[in-house]
Amino acid sequence: MKIAMIGTGYVGLVTGTCFADSGNDVICVDIDEAKIQGLREGKIPIYEPGLSDLVLRSSEEGLLTFTTDLAAAVQACRIVYLAVGTPPAADGSADLTALKTVVDSMAPHLTDDAIVVTKSTVPVGTNEYIFRRLKELLGREVDVASNPEFLKEGAAIEDFMKPDRVVVGVRRPEVGEVLHELYRPFLRTDKPFLTMSPQSAELTKYVANALLSTKISFINEMANLCEKMGGDINDVRRGIGHDQRIGFAFLFPGVGYGGSCFPKDVRALASMARDHGLNPRIMDAVDEVNSEQKKVLKDKIDQHYGGNLTGKRIAVWGLAFKPRTDDIREAPALTLLDYLLEQGATPQVHDPEASENIRAIYGDKLIYCESAMDALNGADALAINTEWKNYHNPNFSEMRTRMNGHVIFDGRNLYEPDQMVEQGFTYHSIGRTVGA
Ligand code: NAD
Repeated sequence: MKIAMIGTGYVGLVTGTCFADSGNDVICVDIDEAKIQGLREGKIPIYEPGLSDLVLRSSEEGLLTFTTDLAAAVQACRIVYLAVGTPPAADGSADLTALKTVVDSMAPHLTDDAIVVTKSTVPVGTNEYIFRRLKELLGREVDVASNPEFLKEGAAIEDFMKPDRVVVGVRRPEVGEVLHELYRPFLRTDKPFLTMSPQSAELTKYVANALLSTKISFINEMANLCEKMGGDINDVRRGIGHDQRIGFAFLFPGVGYGGSCFPKDVRALASMARDHGLNPRIMDAVDEVNSEQKKVLKDKIDQHYGGNLTGKRIAVWGLAFKPRTDDIREAPALTLLDYLLEQGATPQVHDPEASENIRAIYGDKLIYCESAMDALNGADALAINTEWKNYHNPNFSEMRTRMNGHVIFDGRNLYEPDQMVEQGFTYHSIGRTVGA
């Protein structure tokens, strides 16, 4: 099939590349000329495991091309995917400016049998909006489908290639059949292809992210309770997770969720609820708990040093909002770095992939280190934000030698409290008291 992918960001590039890998002819479109030029030269603008090899392979085979020419791409393809950003507006609702601009610009170039598919996360009613707008502009009905994306950054290729399910919202069953054909190579393990109304498909994406965010805020609130009451959240987690109604997934305490999806999608769902006269109490609480949780390392550091950090060197491991990505959008690390700088400390930071994105914000206010161990040189303390694999089993005696003070603020519960004490560290973690 010939597919135009409008918006070549995390989702557009991954989706376009995976469709090309299964033999489709994909043209990726973006307004960012530098990004498109780079992709033509084989430069991948984001870090995502496995993506680079696939992009290069499909590009060499001529199945994946890149352009800024929206009209030409749309004219050449029956299936037109919309994967532009839908960032939060000031009131928390989804900002559809980019999507609406694309709809208007592409309309005159759509083929007679075009199928327009939203891949972006869009509020309920957006499918209806696009359908009506195209009818108004063209004087005819165009097929518009909704196909929300559930991939996780850091495992995006794997998730796209082997989805737990594919959800499509369609107005006509025939459109569902075309999209089912497109997805067939990815559903060989009998995972379901779920067809529903566009409204249900649009809602499904928000409800999935809202529930995942709720689990995170829930376990973080319980972790904070454990800490005050002398319990250990890891034990409590084991104690509840074996109950099959509860399970273990997505119940890890930490420094709060970040990224480009959970924070904005929780707020957008709350905003939709308010627009319909409902009071989204759970969503508001999830968001509020998360905003507080992002301050958890800051609060622990503040308490430990009595609010005085002048001249302190604080090593920071992990800047990305989660491992295996370079994405720092709404990352908890930003809250910590702002605080450290405000208090006169010098952050010595390390991240395997996200340092350049952090440098674009903080410039030379931070010391950027090539290795995790280098970040510890002369440091008074270490703060851990992101659970990259290489932070899990460090050489503790080398850490002690390199560090000036032996204090660890572990925002991801990577180590055992008792062992850390034996290793000679003062160890703070989430929801656990030493010796509890
Ligand atoms: P992104 O910011 O990485 O990419 C968006 C791209 O769209 C950018 O390259 C931008 O230049 C381009 N763009 C903007 N206006 C354009 C225009 N007028 N014409 C052509 N291109 C234009 O965003 P993303 O993370 O890929 O997210 C895209 C959508 O997918 C969002 O709605 C998001 O909520 C959703 N989503 C994201 C993820 C994720 O993990 N990142 C997962 C599922 C769904």
